[in-house]
Parts: sequence; structure tokens; C-alpha cells
Amino acid sequence: MDNKPVMLIVDDVNINRTVLAQFFHDEYRIVEAKDGKEALKLLEEEAAHIVLVDLMMPVMDGLEFMSVIKSNDQYKGMPVVAMTTNGDQDGQTWAVELGAADFITKPFNPAIVRSRIKNVMGSSENEWRKVTQLASDKQLAEVVSYVDNDSLTGLYNREAFYRKASRLIRDNQETKYEIIYLDIYCFKIINDLFTMETGNLVLKTAAYYFNVLTSNGGICGRVESDHFVLCVPKGQVNIEHLLEGIDSTVVSLGISHNIVFYAGIYDVENTYMAVDQMCDRARLAMNTVKGSYMHRYAYYDEKLKQMMLEEQMIVRDMEFALQERQFSIYLQPVYNSETGRIVSAEALVRWQHPSQGMISPGKFIPLFERNGFIVRLDRYVWERVCEFMAELREATGLLLPVAVNVSRLNLYNLDLLDFLMGLIKKHSLSPEYLHLEITEEAYTQDSYQLVEEVELFRQNGFKVTLDNYGKGYSPLSMLKDLPVDTLKVDMSFMTRGDKAERGAHIMAGVVDVAKDLGLDVIIEGVETKADRLFVAKMGARLIQGYCYAKPMPKEDFVELCAKDFLEGK
Ligand code: C2E
Ligand code: MG
Repeated sequence: MDNKPVMLIVDDVNINRTVLAQFFHDEYRIVEAKDGKEALKLLEEEAAHIVLVDLMMPVMDGLEFMSVIKSNDQYKGMPVVAMTTNGDQDGQTWAVELGAADFITKPFNPAIVRSRIKNVMGSSENEWRKVTQLASDKQLAEVVSYVDNDSLTGLYNREAFYRKASRLIRDNQETKYEIIYLDIYCFKIINDLFTMETGNLVLKTAAYYFNVLTSNGGICGRVESDHFVLCVPKGQVNIEHLLEGIDSTVVSLGISHNIVFYAGIYDVENTYMAVDQMCDRARLAMNTVKGSYMHRYAYYDEKLKQMMLEEQMIVRDMEFALQERQFSIYLQPVYNSETGRIVSAEALVRWQHPSQGMISPGKFIPLFERNGFIVRLDRYVWERVCEFMAELREATGLLLPVAVNVSRLNLYNLDLLDFLMGLIKKHSLSPEYLHLEITEEAYTQDSYQLVEEVELFRQNGFKVTLDNYGKGYSPLSMLKDLPVDTLKVDMSFMTRGDKAERGAHIMAGVVDVAKDLGLDVIIEGVETKADRLFVAKMGARLIQGYCYAKPMPKEDFVELCAKDFLEGK
């Protein structure tokens, strides 16, 4: 037997298996199965590093196969790629729900299929090792008896809860269950304000309460420090009564602090879904109300589900999209309102998704900031921007400053300056034409480091802009301490109703301070003629907003610049 990783191909159509085996036989040892049942049997005997499974098969189809895999801890980390036919949206949605790492569509395109499998294997690299240990883990599991209970509260610990809940749900198919996830708001404060024993007493009391509550056909566990989960037959527990009950139980302890539990509820629909995934959903629902005065619980509903599916799709497709150049830049001009001419532009990324159409950055940037992908996307965007500036210069002789957004995650990278200098050199540009937009968030996180970084950029010739000023918590002192060249004031924060006048005074004050400090000021989000007059009144000249132009593709921007250039003659 060779040392190649194992690829299991599951498809009832012989020719499909043969074609895929052809694509991969150099890198993988191929094992084939004709349906889900046969595949499961093979997996009992030997671990696979990746499984490609057709959704439509006799005996046991791909979805059922994935349900079994997903709900079985022993296959945790094993990537499964679903094979679908073009346009099978329902199948794809279900497959994502069941944890498919990606899809490939028939008829197979060798380059695309290879690239997608490579990406899947890249992202599950760490999981691999676990899979290769699978056989020995299985043997181990037979001899090791699990320690099921949490030593503090006596409830099931996380692993035990997942196992027991999974069995409960599976063995009672006729009963509908719900998962209730509970968490104490700012529990750490209790430990800090009182003693560790007080904190422990709260947890033990809560555990006792939940245990009694679930004793009739349900179970409960403590899955993290102050996080509890219940699995109960649907309708058995009234969530409002539960919260009232736990409140009064905890109050009876006489601790002079308001201890507040929040809850998220997930109704179990698919009994084959892994319990940890069900808990994640309940927790996700809980997070939507945590800290709120008005609501103490929330259900995992269609809206949240849609949001999660969207996020999963985005994460699944991002790598491939970058490789395939699906991200492009749009440019939005900045105008001098006195001359009516373009003075610079901001580059804004867009995602041209093959099936979803154009996706705006509001949908994916926050997610990429959470998973770190923004570091690569930003750099990709800067490269395209430099390319564009060089092209524009070549074609028209025009050199216009373009601002790019720099995510705070990039600011923490040691090689950032080298990377930027490399780009400038490669495209024979001058750094002062590349404006770097940073946000106040980076300042509030580590002001000292940011000041140093900004100084370094400026010493090397780049211009730095502080973006979205006024949108969040933007102290005036920040303008004093952060040595930027330009301030971009966000107009959207201004109320346009009866408090408009007060807002206008504040904004005029900010513009004055910035000007006194020698900064350029750009007002962003200027939409209407009235906005424009208002901005002019406070003496701000530079405007970026829909009242002049929306962000547009490169080609349109070039056309606009040419027109602007002719008009200026
Ligand atoms: P931002 O940097 O503050 O960019 C300005 C946003 O305001 C853009 O939205 C622009 O289309 C919008 N805008 C401009 N004028 C008006 C106006 O008059 N009215 C209204 N309602 N909106 C206006 P967009 O393109 O959707 O970008 C949203 C945010 O996504 C950007 O905010 C930026 O934070 C982020 N972003 C976009 N491209 C990139 C990128 O390449 N890298 C990073 N890190 N973030 C990016
Ligand atoms: Mg910006």
C-alpha cells in the first residue's frame, strides 16, 4: 500500500467515477463506492482523507450519507465534497447545511474540479491529521471509558451532552426536540466582584434548576464555563417561565448583583444534524439578544438561517473567487466642489459572483475581517489599483491619486510597508499617489502602534487618510495624536431631522479643527443638493458622494476622467 492520501469517490454512475479517478490518481489512492451504504462500509475499514459524493444515488443518497457522517464524531474533520448537477440549488443548500466542504458540478471541468479539491484540502489541512489517526482513535475509544460529568455541577460535560443528546433525538424519532442554549451576561464580573466561590455557587444553583427542569424526558449539560444547554421535547418548557424561574432561584442566593440569563432556541428539524451544530445555532440566536434590555431570548429562525447559509457560501467560495479574479475594483471620484472637477478617487472592491451576481462589500468585508481573509483581499485590491493607475497613465498621461482601504488586520503585518513599496516599484509609481485609508477602529485598538505605523508610511511618501470619522467613537484628540494627511468625515452619522442643526454645528467644528491642523477634509456620503449646499456652507471643498457620482467600473471611470479633463481645458 502506498503513502498517498485516500480519496473515496461515491457515485452510482461508473463513468463519473472513472473520470474523477483519472483526474486524481496521481496524487491520491482512489477507493470507489456505488452508493452511500457501500461507502460507509468502506470507511469502517479504512479512513479517507477526502470524500467526493454524488447527491443522487440509489440505496443511500449523498444527503443521507452526509447526515450520517456529520452526526458521527469519528468522521469529524473529514472533508466531503458534494457532486451536483448545474442549477440544483436545493441540493446545494441541503449539502451546505449538512457540512459539505464544497461542490463540484457535472459535467466536470478538470481545471475547476482540481482547483476546488486543492482548496478544500488546503483548508482542512489541520483536520487531516485527525483523520489519519482515525483508526487508532477508534480502537482507543473502545478501551477508554468516558468521564461524562462536569466536576463542578455534576451535569453532563460538553462531549457527553453531545453524545447523549444525539442518542436521545435519534432514538425518539416521533418526538420533536428543541435545544435551549443559556448564558449568563458578564459572568466574569461575578467572579471579579465577589469570590470564585460565589461564582461557583451561581453555576451549581443554575445547574440544579436545569437538571430538575429537564428530568422528564430531556437532558442538560454545561458546555463551557457559564454556558448551559438543554435538550427537551418541544413544548415541554415554556421559555418565559424558565427565565423567570432561574431569575428567582438565583435571586434567592442573596447576591447583590443582577444576574441575567439569556437564551437561544433551536427547533430540531433534521435529526441527523450534529448536536454541536444544533447548539451553535441556538447560541447564534442567543447572541442576537445578549445584552439587550428588551429581549431575553430568541429563536433560530429563517432569517438567521439565511444569514448563516450566506456566510457559509461566502467562506466556501472566497479562495476560488480570488484565484478566478472574481473580485474587481470600482472607483468613486472625489470632487472639488468649487471647480466641479475630479481630484482623486477611492477604490472599492466588488465581487462578481458567478451565480449570485454582484455582491457588495458590506456583505463580505465584515466576515473576511473576522476570518482573516481580508489581508489577502486587500493586497489583491491594491495590486489591481496600482495596475490601473499605471494603465491610466499609459493611456492618457493622467495620474490621479487613488485611495485604498487598509483593513486594521493588515496594519498588524510586519511586511506591510515592504509589500506596498514593492507594488509602487513594480508599477513605476510614486507613493504619494496611493492614499491609504485607515479607520478609527485601528486607533482605538492600539493607538500607539498605529501612530508609529502612520508615521512610517508618511516617511516613505504615502498619504494617509483617516476614514469614516464620526461614524463611531471618534475623539477630537485622535486628530491631534494621529499624524494623518486627510480626514474623511462621514456625513451619514448626521441626523437629518430636528437635531440636524446641532449635528451641523459639531460637523462644522470638526472641519475647522481639521483645517487648523493642516489636514485636507473630504466629506463622504453627500447625497442631495441640499447636502451639498450644507457642506459648502461649512467651508468643506472636497466631496465624495452620490450627488456627484456613485462608485463605477474602471472603464466608466476612465471615460468620466477624460470628460472631466476636456471640460477643464
Ligand atoms: P468606506 O471606505 O467608508 O467607503 C465608502 C462607502 O460609502 C462605499 O460603500 C460607497 O459606495 C458609499 N458611499 C459613497 N458615497 C455615498 C453616498 O452619497 N451615499 C451613500 N449612502 N453611500 C455612499 P461600499 O462600496 O459599499 O463600501 C462599503 C465599505 O466596505 C467601505 O466603506 C469599506 O469600509 C469597505 N470596503 C470596500 N472596499 C474595500 C477594500 O478593498 N478593502 C477593505 N478593507 N474594505 C473595503
Ligand atoms: Mg474608505
